[in-house]
Amino acid sequence: MEETKALWRRLKIHTLLDLALILPTSYNDTTLSKQLTIGQSHTLKATVREHRYRGGKLQLTFWLSDFNQPLFATFFKVTPYHKQRFGVGSSHTIQGKLERYNGHLQISQPKSIGSVGRIVPKYKSLLTATQMRALIASMITKPNLLATGLHPQEVEILYQLHFPHTLEALYLQGSLRPEVVHALKCIEAFNHLSKLRGKRVDFPAKEALRGDITAFVVSLPFRLTPEQEQVIAQIQIDLARTDRAAKRMVVGDVGSGKTMVILASVMMAYPSRSILMAPTSLLALQLYEEACKYLPPSLRIALVMQGRSEGVYQEADFIIGTHALLYKEDIPSSALVMVDEQHRFGTKQRQMLESMMGGVEYKPHFLQFSATPIPRTQAMMESELLDVSLITSTPFEREVLTQTIGKGEFASLLEHIKEEVAQEHQVLIVYPLVEESQEIPYQSLEESRGFWEQRFEEVFVTHGKDRHKEAVLLEFRERGKILLATTVVEVGISLPCLTLIVIVGAERLGLATLHQLRGRVGRNGLKSWCYLYSNAPVNARLTAFTQTTSGFDIAKLDLKFRDSGDILDGTIQSGQKFRWLDMGEDEAIVASAKARLKEEKQGQAPA
Ligand code: ADP
Ligand code: MG
Repeated sequence: MEETKALWRRLKIHTLLDLALILPTSYNDTTLSKQLTIGQSHTLKATVREHRYRGGKLQLTFWLSDFNQPLFATFFKVTPYHKQRFGVGSSHTIQGKLERYNGHLQISQPKSIGSVGRIVPKYKSLLTATQMRALIASMITKPNLLATGLHPQEVEILYQLHFPHTLEALYLQGSLRPEVVHALKCIEAFNHLSKLRGKRVDFPAKEALRGDITAFVVSLPFRLTPEQEQVIAQIQIDLARTDRAAKRMVVGDVGSGKTMVILASVMMAYPSRSILMAPTSLLALQLYEEACKYLPPSLRIALVMQGRSEGVYQEADFIIGTHALLYKEDIPSSALVMVDEQHRFGTKQRQMLESMMGGVEYKPHFLQFSATPIPRTQAMMESELLDVSLITSTPFEREVLTQTIGKGEFASLLEHIKEEVAQEHQVLIVYPLVEESQEIPYQSLEESRGFWEQRFEEVFVTHGKDRHKEAVLLEFRERGKILLATTVVEVGISLPCLTLIVIVGAERLGLATLHQLRGRVGRNGLKSWCYLYSNAPVNARLTAFTQTTSGFDIAKLDLKFRDSGDILDGTIQSGQKFRWLDMGEDEAIVASAKARLKEEKQGQAPA
């Protein structure tokens, strides 16, 4: 048993199905061939009729009793073993590739094998072939597989893959049959979900939050979208409970109106206190401004940032801040904890805020907001650990025309930029790097700034390592015309007059990043443009990107082009890699695996 555990560790697996899903990469099939096909490998019963040793070569004529015909064989490297083994009249089972030579059947260098009628799997793993086969033989039994909760027909397929009767049942023209692949997808989803199940840990909440939000909703200058309403209703149910503190992630594209969901939640908590953490001062400030604008004046709001604060946070009903919050010792306890743009924080920072507000036996209600769309399938997987709400639409149709361009279009691009600037609109140009580099065939920020500064007024420049980045962005928001930056532009910050973005070297970036960048323009419904500038020839991935603006579709595309060999920047957020499951397409399979696990859970007798 100890030994088995060590082997599992070496294979980095945790469950029986993890092991079962390590499939043979090939098989050694020793079942006797039923027909003769030139060019294919055969296993044949053969008796030696003639035996000639000539010029260092051993030439044999076999008789194939099953087929009533002769077969010629030649050994080029001959040892005394061969001479002795293949004496006239001796019978063998031989294996090799069948050829036709001068009108005769021939196999060169055939193998004489001992056992017949078996299909022996071959595995590629960190274990030796013997260790692996022994492990599989001892663990992969039908009763063991059934005990994992798989359906009998899935067990049958999985078992056959390790111990096949015939390969025809599994393979069709060298590939796994579609029904086998389908079963493997189901098994993979089932295995992954069973591992997640039971990982969710819930704590009671200290308070039920049931504040009335009607007046707030009515006071808004617009109607909430159906999706905003739906998420708000889900949160109302979450917060009204005390047996289990809320643990929900709201995922919505840039501009989908998540701030209104945050503010509505503050109203549900009121008169109890809420706290919200944002990744940058700029974003915290913007959220503070919005909170002041839309929440009733009786609600006391405070802002906590390094170097700047507003209001008395010790007495506030709603505290907004950056991670500076984590280092204040007198932040009062809050019943509702929220994190905006949660993917920009580390797990530790998020948990720190939550645990600052919780006790030993209870936790605050906890809501996280993310602008990184994930495929619905992945959301379904993750919802085993926490509740997930998706917002897939934006409050108003954003009109952003996306186009790939190259050197040839630069003159007309320049004209377009001039037109936008003349209309008091703002332009963002994103460069792949700050300084010149041999490796990247594009101009850098520093190399190009002179060009723009000569032609335009109010050109601002910033990049990820710029210490004054936030100040530059704030000033640009007020009076800038053109902003030159690297990809590290603040996510979530709203520049309402930004109508044109140029992304230089777009083919080098992941679609998720391109989508975040494109999300900067057209925030106020102004008609906008996104130009993907590339020296490279037309690229299918970029073309696909120009054809959709839905972050959820783009998350799917990102999966599709994951292995396309483009130089990506490593920000692919699509997560978990599966061998068989396609997160973009196998929604139904994941849904049914989930339903199955749920049924199973309900079927179990209460402990
Ligand atoms: P997100 O945080 O999801 O990126 P925001 O909350 O910043 O998006 O919303 C984007 C813009 O849409 C803001 O200007 C906001 O005031 C506006 N907005 C939000 N909800 C609605 C709505 N229901 N109708 C019209 N505009 C809305
Ligand atoms: Mg936001």
